Amino acid sequence: MATREVEVLHPLTLDERVGLNPEPPLAVRTEAVRRRFGDRVVLDRIDLDIRKGEFVALLGRSGSGKSTFLRALAGLDEGVEGRITVPTARSVVFQDPRLLPWASVLDNVVLGLKGGDARDHGRQVLDEVGLGGHGDAWPKTLSGGEAQRASLARALVREPELLLLDEPFGALDALTRIRMHALLQRLCARYTPAVLLVTHDVDEALLLADRVLVLTEGVISLDVPVDVPAPRLRGDRQFISLRSRLLAELGVDEAAEGAHGKALP
Ligand code: ADP
Ligand code: MG
Repeated sequence: MATREVEVLHPLTLDERVGLNPEPPLAVRTEAVRRRFGDRVVLDRIDLDIRKGEFVALLGRSGSGKSTFLRALAGLDEGVEGRITVPTARSVVFQDPRLLPWASVLDNVVLGLKGGDARDHGRQVLDEVGLGGHGDAWPKTLSGGEAQRASLARALVREPELLLLDEPFGALDALTRIRMHALLQRLCARYTPAVLLVTHDVDEALLLADRVLVLTEGVISLDVPVDVPAPRLRGDRQFISLRSRLLAELGVDEAAEGAHGKALP
């Protein structure tokens, strides 16, 4: 029998010993999270804490269960076992922007939001993602990068305490991806959500995250802080050494595969 127990606490009470604990309080705690599909155990035992405002990247090979874990945190998976504590205010951005084609960009951004100032707030966030002039446009008129920025605006207008990103830049060209990295950094500095970024791009994880996790065979096999000073440059000694460590954990042979900046299989 499933022992699923998903608790949603708001405001968070976990570990909030202000004054006693110099660390920020927790935004996420998962305990013994497990997911099986039939006989196949995809997530075996995931115990993870993410602090408020912390940016965590989750790496893993294709099919390792990254999206399954993200869906569990999003509350989109009824079949997950274990205990999950997450904030109520959470938003998800997927690789595909998932904009409704029959609604304007602004209507997509504020869809389901209540309150008289929702549209003003929506326009302000569209401005912040560089789409100030596109609120009345139809989604089909946007480029891939613009559509993904609209999807980020839709996530942020809800002022999430937890932002869940599932390979959000995976379908974008390299130049657009660099711009999106800079935009995401600015937005995270302004809104300070806890972030879980699922990616298979090691460099993306190292450029953006405070901490990088590797998911292997259903467990977090590596959990490392990214101690690379800003501005983070791919050529920095610490960057290169962390990249090698992560690629080794992912089972990628750098020398054989020329893995610099490349996506995982
Ligand atoms: P990742 O995001 O790391 O590429 P996923 O979390 O999407 O991997 O999937 C992990 C594994 O779980 C894959 O083998 C996938 O086929 C399987 N899986 C995911 N969702 C389902 C489902 N609803 N039913 C059966 N198997 C699934
Ligand atoms: Mg996935």
